[in-house]
Amino acid sequence: MNMRSRLNERLATQRDQPTTAIPSGIRRIVRGVSGGDEAGAQLLRGLAWKFRTFLILSVIANVCAAVFEGGTMAILTAALEYVGGSSDTLDQLGTVSNITQSFEEHFGMGGVFGALVGLAVLMQIGRSWFDFSAQSAAAYLRAWSEGDLRRRIFTQFTTLSYANISKYKVGDLSSFVGEVDRVGNLITFANHLIGHLTIIFAYTVILFWLSWQLTLIALLGVLLLSFSLRSVRGHIRQRSTRFMNAYVSINTRIIEFLGGMRLLHTFHQQSYARESVEATIDDSVRARRQSMILASSVPAIVQSLTIIGVALFLTVGYFAVQRTGDTTLIPRFVTFVFIVYRMLPRVTGLNAALARVNEEFPFATRLAAHLRTDDKQYLQSGTLPFLQLNESIKLDNVRLRYADTQHDALTGISLTIKRGEMVAFVGESGSGKSSIVSLLLRLYDPTSGEILVDGTSVEKLKRGDWLGRIGVVDQNTFVLHASVRENVRFGRLDATDAEVEQAAKIANAHDFVMELNEGYDTIVGDRGQQLSGGQCQRLAIARAVLRDPDILILDEATSALDSQSERFIQDSVGALRENRTIIIVAHRLSSIMHADSIHVLRDGQITESGTHQELIAKKERYYSFWQLQSSS
Ligand code: ADP
Ligand code: MG
Repeated sequence: MNMRSRLNERLATQRDQPTTAIPSGIRRIVRGVSGGDEAGAQLLRGLAWKFRTFLILSVIANVCAAVFEGGTMAILTAALEYVGGSSDTLDQLGTVSNITQSFEEHFGMGGVFGALVGLAVLMQIGRSWFDFSAQSAAAYLRAWSEGDLRRRIFTQFTTLSYANISKYKVGDLSSFVGEVDRVGNLITFANHLIGHLTIIFAYTVILFWLSWQLTLIALLGVLLLSFSLRSVRGHIRQRSTRFMNAYVSINTRIIEFLGGMRLLHTFHQQSYARESVEATIDDSVRARRQSMILASSVPAIVQSLTIIGVALFLTVGYFAVQRTGDTTLIPRFVTFVFIVYRMLPRVTGLNAALARVNEEFPFATRLAAHLRTDDKQYLQSGTLPFLQLNESIKLDNVRLRYADTQHDALTGISLTIKRGEMVAFVGESGSGKSSIVSLLLRLYDPTSGEILVDGTSVEKLKRGDWLGRIGVVDQNTFVLHASVRENVRFGRLDATDAEVEQAAKIANAHDFVMELNEGYDTIVGDRGQQLSGGQCQRLAIARAVLRDPDILILDEATSALDSQSERFIQDSVGALRENRTIIIVAHRLSSIMHADSIHVLRDGQITESGTHQELIAKKERYYSFWQLQSSS
């Protein structure tokens, strides 16, 4: 099975499991809470399913905590009533009342009261530890989920096809990683939600037992309240989405400017950089402020409304007692109000958690869009091993059109590169030379036509095998932030130090490396010692040479070099020609005049082919290029 289908299978199981395993009721609740956002909700469901052990543990611990909390309330009610001379509640507590009866015989009323209070205390201690357990399970859930998301983000980045990944902006990766924290918050708040809900449920059971009529009224109030805050939650989410977009765009700009620091300085355009993010920063400040203020207004709203509710309750209770004249109702009623009052922070917490969930949700949605697999292209690899080139590479009517462009970059290229040959491409910039190289490197696949390696389509070969036999140097030499040695060794990770130096000598890099402060151990790249363009180029050539490739591709590899270094490289390339296929793109015709065949490209088409002598004799484009260059 190839990598793509394995990956797809794995991702498909990740996607499908939660949908089949989680009852639709829960799915509807999640969607309701999250505002009906399918992608983000699906991401969370996937995590919940994957780490269900922790979720289940958290729910169990929360339920236990709730039972203990409810139990405490019942025992306290009983204890108070007992002191007040009534045993209504105790009688309803069944077994407990049997125990207290025998207790009363041995230790008297004080003993029973003490025992009840002691029991309540024990239950509260138990509740605290169950709370702790619930939070620990939630911490595990969050940590594992965050790790899982980070891993998936990087897997996405490394398994997407080049065509797909190159559409991302540089700032995206860093903002995705930041978004993982926000999704982590989301998990914490969702867990608070579960905690509050279970405790509220426990309180409700006790309240029902005290007076079901009053409880129904109270529940109706809570539901109405939570429902009426829906629009506030909607606003929070909207502001938070706006903040997120601004944040991502600022992030992207910052990273872009960091990369273009030299440009900013040389053109003295720092103020342009500042001004270009100014408006976005303003918008982010506005949106962030609004969403946070809205979220923190929720507790105030809930508390104000509920305290009015409690006052109404007291009034109703007062009239009820007056009308019936039944004063024994008073302790029950007081207990009822006491429990409602204890429940209020939970109702506030529930709504606050809902608000925070809405604040974090847009980040889950954006992450979900990145982690989606069905709308992206992944690296494709064939299954056939490839050891070496035996005969030829053949391009058969190859056409390439880049995504989102109107014209073909290559319009039907047909040519054969024989093993051991040196083949050159020349042409004006934009004529398609690098596009041919990209196709050979499988950065893109032909829109139509085929590339045949010894008669087999290159797409059927194992990608690693094929690329493992190619060494490439192009215009975009990239120097890693590492020592010179590591930079060269990147070409073949198991190369010895001696092989690294040998490759550097061939690439004409050894001498300048020896002049660096610490020779091969000098750190170069981003924050290291700066190298000149030509020096970077020579390291890149050493890197390619170290691979001892079957096929060497040089795409304007020597254009950053002075003519003397270029001559050196030409000599080394000459030495490397033995037993090697060389594909070379060059502006300076002097470096390719010894090629076995030269193809002249124009607008994605080959217009002339032949050896240097043949093309000169033709007196067409190549001839005019040659004249132009030899006269200067
Ligand atoms: P050359 O190497 O001969 O200068 P290229 O092969 O790089 O030319 O480019 C050929 C054409 O394809 C140009 O018109 C260029 O704008 C276009 N092109 C190159 N790379 C891409 C890309 N990644 N996406 C879209 N268009 C591209
Ligand atoms: Mg090019």
